[in-house]
Amino acid sequence: MRSTDRYVAQFVESFPTPMEPGVLYISAPYSTAGHICPCGCGREVVTKLSPARYRVIFDGEVSLKPSVAATGLPCNSHYFITRGEVDWHGKLDADRAARVQASDRRAVESQRVASPQTPTPQPPRAIWWARLWRGVSGKS
Ligand SMILES: [Zn+2]
Repeated sequence: MRSTDRYVAQFVESFPTPMEPGVLYISAPYSTAGHICPCGCGREVVTKLSPARYRVIFDGEVSLKPSVAATGLPCNSHYFITRGEVDWHGKLDADRAARVQASDRRAVESQRVASPQTPTPQPPRAIWWARLWRGVSGKS
């Protein structure tokens, strides 16, 4: 299989089998993105989309952030997909793979800490004031 240097976005409900090389599939219902590894190994790379994991940015061209470190694949590819283009970060040796995994974990953990709290619902002030006013003025 040939290697890929460009991806186009395709919005799908679920990923097709097999995936087409050069297509970054984005499934909103499952919050996942999937693509064929650009190195040419033909393996599928499925990334979970969440604030702590991967983000897809679509502005006409598709970007996937942060970098994909295919540590689970035999090829150990490491690359960015930025505005549709594959930006190689070289092959990972075991040492770098471990470091990338560690920094991925750190990123996930820091995201978890930094993630915003569920906003507390605001009391419906206007209604409350209206009620109070009615109470004070003796009108109902
Ligand atoms: Zn590969």
